[in-house]
Amino acid sequence: MINFKELASTYKTPLYIYDLDYMTAQYEELKEAFRGRKSILAFAIKSNSNLSIISHFATLGSGADCVSIGEVRRAFLAGIPSYKIIFSGVGKSDDEIREAIEKEILYINVESEAELGRVELIAKELKVTCRISVRVNPNIDPLTHPYISTGLHDNKFGVEIEAAKRMYIRANNSEHLDPVGIHFHIGSQLTELKPIYESAEIVADLVRSLQSIKVELKFFDIGGGLGVRYKDEVTIKPYDYAQAVLSTLKGLDLTIICEPGRFLTANGGYFLTKVLYEKKNGAKRFVVVDGAMNDLLRPSLYKAYHRIEAITSSKTEESEADVVGPVCESGDFFAKNYPLPTLEHNDLLVLHSAGAYGFGMGSNYNTRGRSVEVAIKGGEARVIRRREEFEDLIALEKEYLVK
Ligand SMILES: *Cc1c(COP(=O)(O)O)cnc(C)c1O
Repeated sequence: MINFKELASTYKTPLYIYDLDYMTAQYEELKEAFRGRKSILAFAIKSNSNLSIISHFATLGSGADCVSIGEVRRAFLAGIPSYKIIFSGVGKSDDEIREAIEKEILYINVESEAELGRVELIAKELKVTCRISVRVNPNIDPLTHPYISTGLHDNKFGVEIEAAKRMYIRANNSEHLDPVGIHFHIGSQLTELKPIYESAEIVADLVRSLQSIKVELKFFDIGGGLGVRYKDEVTIKPYDYAQAVLSTLKGLDLTIICEPGRFLTANGGYFLTKVLYEKKNGAKRFVVVDGAMNDLLRPSLYKAYHRIEAITSSKTEESEADVVGPVCESGDFFAKNYPLPTLEHNDLLVLHSAGAYGFGMGSNYNTRGRSVEVAIKGGEARVIRRREEFEDLIALEKEYLVK
């Protein structure tokens, strides 16, 4: 049991708490699901990019899936070996591509024919061969929120099967490209197995047809996307997930790469915020708290649900309230019509499932410093990022101040 009250009093609010032991257990369960096959779990850094979190996964043997060169640098700093680092993303700059090639990561996930051209050119300038994989868009509806769905042709991600084939042929014939993998990632917060299975089947067929033209791949990269329970979702069991994927790979000797983000971190994180006061506008009840959309954007961005636990001595009956922050936007809310008891100044609200896409999506909007982050391991808590102070927020402007 985590003592939220004590943590809030020690570290002040708003506050992120991460349970590293929970994250370990998630990692081990998923890794175990692929037992009997060569596999790498490449932690999707964007879901929680704190260096200590990445480093924790590094000690478990994890790789890293990165979507910017900044994330690649984080992966190196946190001790992820180069041969387990993947660089994905729909728009990589020349500088990013160059640095990724120089760092000799496992491969670059290429998302368009034009990008393949850039990678080839840059590898040629550097007089090296670059390992690549192609992100295939299998045109399967992942049955998730449209903002986090990526595997349909309507989305900007990946390339169609025919384009992928052309890209592999080109790469195979190039001195500067070495096609080693194939990749798909159809969306996030997936709770249905069927779209994953169907996508894997389509992509595995492509691997077979590439084999027949002498393109021999080593890595079958199934992306991330495993959903978690925020409220009452029925989620996919890692074992079933692995079995579904493996069943499409009969006769193929490929290393599985899986890029979980949310699955590893979401339910290992808590966001703690204090009640400032209650107010009413007509019949509408609001609970105003010290955290805001700049700390945790998901409710504002996706209308995402986070379970809220009220830590209070109040024994009143629950009634519905909107939980809102101090930011000057109507979109600044954590919950709408959420049943809560009457709350007092300094009562604590714990927002559950805040370990993924929480802190990392934060901003300094309204000149608010980002929260402190604290990790707990074996019952011991320690700061893994200090709270941002006013001086941090103005540091990059101060010397440029126009007087
Ligand atoms: C975001 C992302 C992931 C992780 O997604 P989750 O839903 O957090 O598991 C994995 N791979 C790629 C390429 C991504 O963009």
